[in-house]
Amino acid sequence: MEYSILVDRYEKLESVSSKLAKTNIIAQFLKEVPTNELSKIVLLLQGRVFPSYSEYELGIATQMMIKAISKATGLSTSQVEERLKKTGDLGLTAEQCVQSRKQVSLLKKKLTVDHVFENLQKLATITGEGSQDKKLNLISELIISAQPKEARYIVRTILGELRVGAAEGIIRDAIVNAFLVDEKSTKEEKEKATEIVENAWSLLNDYGEVAELAKEKGIKGLKKVGIQLGKPIQVMLGIAAEKIEDVVKEFGEVIAEYKYDGMRVVIEKKGGQFWLFTRRQEDVTKQFPDIVELAKKGLKAEECIVEGEAIGIDTKTGYPLPFQILSQRVHRKYGIEKMVKEIPVQVNLFDILYANGKSLFNKPLKERRKELEKILNPIKGKFQLAKYIITNDVKKLEQFYEEALKERQEGLMLKVPDSVYTFGRHVGTMYKIKPMMETLDLAIVGATWGEGARARLLTSYILACKDPDTGKLLECGMVSTGLTEEQYIELTKLLKPLIIKEEGRTVFVKPKIIIEVGYQEIQKSPNYSSGMALRFPRYIRNRTADKSEPDTLDRVKSLFKSQGKAG
Ligand code: AMP
Repeated sequence: MEYSILVDRYEKLESVSSKLAKTNIIAQFLKEVPTNELSKIVLLLQGRVFPSYSEYELGIATQMMIKAISKATGLSTSQVEERLKKTGDLGLTAEQCVQSRKQVSLLKKKLTVDHVFENLQKLATITGEGSQDKKLNLISELIISAQPKEARYIVRTILGELRVGAAEGIIRDAIVNAFLVDEKSTKEEKEKATEIVENAWSLLNDYGEVAELAKEKGIKGLKKVGIQLGKPIQVMLGIAAEKIEDVVKEFGEVIAEYKYDGMRVVIEKKGGQFWLFTRRQEDVTKQFPDIVELAKKGLKAEECIVEGEAIGIDTKTGYPLPFQILSQRVHRKYGIEKMVKEIPVQVNLFDILYANGKSLFNKPLKERRKELEKILNPIKGKFQLAKYIITNDVKKLEQFYEEALKERQEGLMLKVPDSVYTFGRHVGTMYKIKPMMETLDLAIVGATWGEGARARLLTSYILACKDPDTGKLLECGMVSTGLTEEQYIELTKLLKPLIIKEEGRTVFVKPKIIIEVGYQEIQKSPNYSSGMALRFPRYIRNRTADKSEPDTLDRVKSLFKSQGKAG
């Protein structure tokens, strides 16, 4: 298919705003697309060349694109930038630049969807020495071959800014309308077909593949889609509950597990091969070779899919590290071995969806857990079942919750023992219980110097809120966790010039720096001048640029009061 046909549909999609109109345009188009191009077209409509779970990204920055447009059109980079200033959109800029290009070749071959698609995929796989130049050449060659309008959409696709509004729900409905229902179908039939398409998508994670299946094999084929090892799944999500008591009242006995604050990880095993996926379907197998090693030892089944939460562990204290620290490992491309040592992980497993050829997601949770225990070779402290109790006793559950918080975990998950696994949905059979977590913006009024290798860094910060009546700053806690090494360095740099006095290892500073702080709880405390203390505070970010005043004591007090309700 010629790329210009797709471009024409992009334009049509841009010209309408209603979901229905967009769905109709796409459905009509999908009917016309030859089967062998269907999956590519569906991806391109979404502005992609890889399904969302793929580790490949185009990753092209604005500057590189400006250079590529300049190279392709013979305009200087400053001329391109000049136009960009006017249009505010590199796609339109490319279109204009191509339009005004001096030597418009008439003999130019027409661009095809295949050619554009393949070259964009190539772009993501170029790595290593000279890769920037190679990428630049590839993009500019595409622009040279493009008609002005084609250039607009090629550039937007490469930058990840297609935005023609072909959202996932619209693509789903368009597939249903194009291949599975017609005007005669009833509302129920349409709903059923939509559900089946959505289910297939939960397992395949690629509407391109789903469209192909729908066209070739219809409803029957879609229904047959099973678990596919090596592909991510759409995980089941819980909803928040206010009180333990409410959940027990509704369901009776529950499976209560620690809620760990880390990275949801789906571990898939096929013989000696392993894949790790996050809840956003990112493939993080390369980033966590340590989890793969643990899974090799810990999973007895020949094939399986298990799910758990990986948390970072502070080797000195044994307590969990804040998620922000573990998250440094999630998108790491280099220095992975170093990270494995610096931020060791613990995997807490809580579900199993598939084992040795058997799908388990339709089985009740209590049976799935038995299966999980059967295939698990626990490695204490490293690869184990999430800590749990099964009871309908609210007191026991509350104690268990306290225990989880004492161990610095996030809270509890309460799960209904008879519930099946529903892909990609927030379900009413899995409840999160965690302390209220509205953050506070507080002033740093003092800090202490670190120890050992960190002796030159201020690593612990005294926090204060403001008394609205007197304007005085009142201390309410100290924060020293949640920061990366770079953030300690950055804050030290900012605080040093603000030091007013030093007492031993403690310094007092002018209250110029405001930071956002999270915590698990607020307690009354005689230790601080505000009479309040944050329990397990952790640094979130520096807010000095957009805030000059910390939150008031009144706000701290009202948060203190409201947490009783959420408990
Ligand atoms: P939230 O991110 O607050 O909506 O909570 C849901 C997340 O909690 C899930 O996506 C998991 O990553 C995480 N989680 C931690 N512990 C558990 C557990 N025992 N069962 C299920 N999810 C858990």
